[in-house]
Amino acid sequence: MSECTHNCSTCGKNCSSRTTPQDMHIAPHELSNIKKVIGIVSGKGGVGKSLVTSLMAVEAKRRDFKTAILDADITGPSIPKAFGLKEKASTDGDALYPVKTKTGIEVMSINLLLDDETQPVVWRGPVIAGVVKQFWNEVIWNDVDYMFVDMPPGTGDVPLTVYQSIRLDGIIVVTSPQELVSMIVAKAVNMAKKMNIPILGIVENMSYLKCPCCNEKIEIYGESHVDEIAAQHETVVLGKIPFDRELSKLSDNGCIELFEGDWLSTAADKLFE
Ligand code: ADP
Repeated sequence: MSECTHNCSTCGKNCSSRTTPQDMHIAPHELSNIKKVIGIVSGKGGVGKSLVTSLMAVEAKRRDFKTAILDADITGPSIPKAFGLKEKASTDGDALYPVKTKTGIEVMSINLLLDDETQPVVWRGPVIAGVVKQFWNEVIWNDVDYMFVDMPPGTGDVPLTVYQSIRLDGIIVVTSPQELVSMIVAKAVNMAKKMNIPILGIVENMSYLKCPCCNEKIEIYGESHVDEIAAQHETVVLGKIPFDRELSKLSDNGCIELFEGDWLSTAADKLFE
């Protein structure tokens, strides 16, 4: 047998230095007890990933589950604003403690730590990924039935590190019915598949607009192809959310917990046991 070069692409399959792929998941804080972790992902920013994260968490909380949100979107953190969180996260020097929303959802986000939340986060990828890991293993989350992770957008090195470090039980892909969607969804889906993370389904956001006068469904971005895209990837459409000014108002005013709408209730029935 030839000598091992430590380059597995050139040496034999039976080389003794080959090991099974390393599990790079890191353990949560020893005082955390987190049952299910669901990542909310999108292939690009601005499609409503944070909104879907918020709505899914509210759905879980309304069903009386102990619910948490880990805001891993470090460069575009919008969860604290959607829930109207003003209080900062506390620390005892060793661990960090999440902040509770009005209905009791536990949240950790970079904006709960920064003195001035209008300052942009201009850190490089490894630093950002390091902060997300700290949100996982240095925060005491106590008892959580469902944790929703608002994932960093895209398919670059930061989401990759998050996939590798946090034990995700599944992901929900958020998309909007625009051009290039099928390619962008494919990237997000393929990345999750490479990491062996189950894809729970796709949510189409800004799917349509309801005419305030006649209630007609207007497809603002053109015809939706999300059902075909889901079938192509052997997954399901978990819900279609309209473009709704009320939703953006609630989110802008920190009152997302008051949303009315059953767009994600089928998804919630399916996902929450
Ligand atoms: P992402 O997390 O993908 O970057 P966000 O969830 O932050 O996207 O949404 C981007 C903006 O669009 C926010 O201001 C949000 O309130 C608004 N928005 C998202 N989805 C809807 C919707 N269905 N109806 C109205 N406004 C929406």
